[in-house]
Amino acid sequence: MDCIFCEIIKGDIPSTTVYEDEWVKAINDLNPQMPVHVLVMPKKHIASANEITEEDAETIGKIFLAAKKIAGDLGLENGYRIINNCGEDAGQTVKHLHFHLLGGRTMGEKII
Ligand code: 5GP
Ligand code: ZN
Repeated sequence: MDCIFCEIIKGDIPSTTVYEDEWVKAINDLNPQMPVHVLVMPKKHIASANEITEEDAETIGKIFLAAKKIAGDLGLENGYRIINNCGEDAGQTVKHLHFHLLGGRTMGEKII
């Protein structure tokens, strides 16, 4: 399968890992939009949030526990935002589920 994040998880493409456990890998985004811009993803290939199944429930929980830990480790005590783009209308470009963990400055606009 041709998936850039699976290649990163395997170590075939270099990345800066900020967190890793049995279920989760988190890397710095190649093109950061904020002082902190981390991508938190399952090690298992799940194409998007729309492909999550009941058997992934534990993995998804681990992703959010990891995000909280990373936010603490990176000093985001003032807050942060977690964003997932799911599918074409939302502009998802990499078809491996990932959550953008953003922080490090005040975020002006809110979409919702
Ligand atoms: P999406 O648009 O799918 O929500 O987010 C994809 C994100 O992956 C983008 O923010 C983009 O900068 C990032 N990205 C794409 N290719 C790579 C890569 O090879 N390495 C890293 N670290 N980030 C990547
Ligand atoms: Zn993948």
